[in-house]
Parts: sequence; C-alpha cells; structure tokens
Amino acid sequence: MASLVKLAKATLRPGIRAISTSLPAASSGAPPANGYSFELNDEQKEIQSLARKFTAEEIIPKAAEYDKTMEYPWPIVKKAWELGLINNHIPEHCGGTDQGVFNGCLIAEETAYGCTGIGTAMEATGLGQTPVIIAGNKEQQKKYLGRLIEEPLVAAYCVTEPGAGSDVNGVKTRAEKKGDEWILNGQKMWITNGGVANWYFLLARTNPDPKAPASKAFTGFIVEREFPGVTPGRKEINMGQRCSDTRGITFEDVRIPKENVLLGEGAGFKIAMGTFDKTRAPVAAGATGLAQRAFTEATKYALERKAFGVPIATHQVKFHFNF
Ligand SMILES: Cc1cc2nc3c(=O)[nH]c(=O)nc-3n(C[C@H](O)[C@H](O)[C@H](O)COP(=O)(O)OP(=O)(O)OC[C@H]3O[C@@H](n4cnc5c(N)ncnc54)[C@H](O)[C@@H]3O)c2cc1C
Repeated sequence: MASLVKLAKATLRPGIRAISTSLPAASSGAPPANGYSFELNDEQKEIQSLARKFTAEEIIPKAAEYDKTMEYPWPIVKKAWELGLINNHIPEHCGGTDQGVFNGCLIAEETAYGCTGIGTAMEATGLGQTPVIIAGNKEQQKKYLGRLIEEPLVAAYCVTEPGAGSDVNGVKTRAEKKGDEWILNGQKMWITNGGVANWYFLLARTNPDPKAPASKAFTGFIVEREFPGVTPGRKEINMGQRCSDTRGITFEDVRIPKENVLLGEGAGFKIAMGTFDKTRAPVAAGATGLAQRAFTEATKYALERKAFGVPIATHQVKFHFNF
C-alpha cells in the first residue's frame, strides 16, 4: 500500500496545500456552468482510495473484535501512522505533510465507514494536536508535534468537565502561576484517548475573577500524561465506539513549565474554539461514513432476508388510513 507521506512527498503536496484553502476543483476541464464542482481532483481521489483500501484491509476485518474487547486499536493506529493517515495536519517543519481540513474529512469518512470506534481513535489525536498547530510557537510544535511524527504516539484534547460540556465557559479546572511554573488542579471528563495519549491540550481557568470574560479567563496548556499528579480514570464503556478510549482525568498539583503555555495567558478560550473550527467538519464526515455503512448493510440484509417467499426489500409498504 502506498503511503500518504510518500504520495505527498512525490506529487500531492502542492495540490493538498491548494485544497486546504479552496473548494475542491474538478480534476479536468472547465468548471460547470453553475460555477461549482463537487468532483474530487486527482490528489483527493488518491487519498480517498488509500483510506478506502486501509479501511477494507485493516479496519473492517477487525472491527467486531475491537468492539467486543474494547481494547484500544494500537496495531491499527500504528499502521495508520506509518501510512500518514494520522498526523496529516502537522506542519512540514515538524516532519508532517501539512494537509488541509478537506483531506482530513476524506480520510475520516472512509475510516468511519469501517468502524467509528477505530475512526475516532485515529481522529482524536488530530483534535489534541490542532491547538498546538494553530497556536503553538516553533519550539512547542517541534517538541510536541515532532514527537508524534517520530514515534506512533497520540495526543488528546482536554476541555470538557463533569459540569462543563457545551458550556465551555463553565470550566473550573484552575491553574495558578508560581514562579516559572503553573500549578494545575481539577478534573476533566469524556476525554478521547485520555488513557493512551502521550500529551494533552488542556484548558484551565487562570483568571481568579469569576466575572472575567471568557476571552480573558482561560489559558491553554500542553500537559504531558507522565507529569506527576496526572491520573487518568477508568475507561468508560461507551454505547458505541467501544474501542475508543474515553476517560475522566484528575489533575492534582500538576506542575506545568511556563514554556507549555500556548500563545499566552488568557488566550485559551480562543484556541479551544478555533480548534473546533478545524475539527468539527471531520466529525461530520465520520457521521456520513457511518450513515453510508448503515445504508449498505441495511440494503444487503433487505435483499438477502426472505419473508413470505421473497426478499423483504421487494415487499410493498401499504398504508391504511382511516379518515
Ligand atoms: C464519546 C465521547 C467522547 C468525547 N471526547 C471528548 C474529548 O476528547 N475532549 C473533550 O474535551 N470533550 C469530549 N467529549 C465531551 C463532549 O464534547 C461533550 O459531551 C459535549 O460538549 C456536550 O457536553 P455535555 O455532555 O456536558 O452535555 P450538556 O452540555 O450538558 O448538554 C446536554 C444537552 O443539552 C443541550 N444543550 C446544551 N446547551 C444548550 C443550549 N444553549 N441550547 C439548547 N440546548 C442545549 C445539548 O445539546 C444536549 O442535548 C466527549 C464526549 C463523548 C460522549
């Protein structure tokens, strides 16, 4: 299987860059009369076909087993890492292929067709990386994003808390500045990759004034899972996506070096929201992949299953209305 990294290095990169800032262009010929074309260009088709092949060969055959055991799909994540199907948004100066959101959506749609649990495990590291991609300085990017390129490691995004989900402004985890460090205390909840990530993006309240506006109240940090005082909780048993690692995490007097502050004190809310701008579209693409799979399976079953001597797909639905 050709790797995305190799493809990108050979021919794709200029195309991928262009794709990230514009609607997909048609692969050939002039645009249609209405000015829009939803046809994928050649590079996008190659990425889609790589992700589709990976899904067929690596995800679909193993999905049921991972769903049953709920084990984190490390072997699959490692293969995806080798092919460049994860870490695809990491900038070139850190060793990544610097691709746009659109290509990430193509990959997310294909992998979710195979299994949304495995797809989420692959996708969530991108969620954790994005704050560092959009707001990290060169040193932070090289250290933390570069690490993910050098080794098959993953990141996570720690914003939600037991009492703060949709309402991010309700985050209560606190960080206080002491000399050259920040001391972090609090609890996060529903963190995907929480127990397996090498490092987290974490949003904490740093302004003690309860009336401080969100735009000034929070700071974004990079927190390593191995920092003393970081304790991931038990793995949650999800209703679906069972092999995805979802956990609460407790932070108790965790010392964060000042070098791990993203952008500056008070900039956290903007970073957390800016991250959603880039990472919600792949979630929607994943939902599309899942819907396609449900449709495929339902169609297959309705053509196989017989009732009254014929496949159930051939029965006419009759409505009886009594007015
Ligand atoms: C499997 C899983 C993985 C997750 N992974 C992560 C992760 O990696 N990192 C992370 O930080 N978080 C993660 N989350 C948390 C997720 O982002 C939150 O669940 C989400 O933000 C919703 O928050 P909540 O569950 O507290 O629901 P609530 O915010 O309490 O919402 C409950 C209901 O109220 C509705 N509601 C809320 N506000 C309004 C409003 N203003 N108007 C109308 N309706 C409203 C909501 O739509 C919802 O139906 C994950 C959650 C799950 C289930």
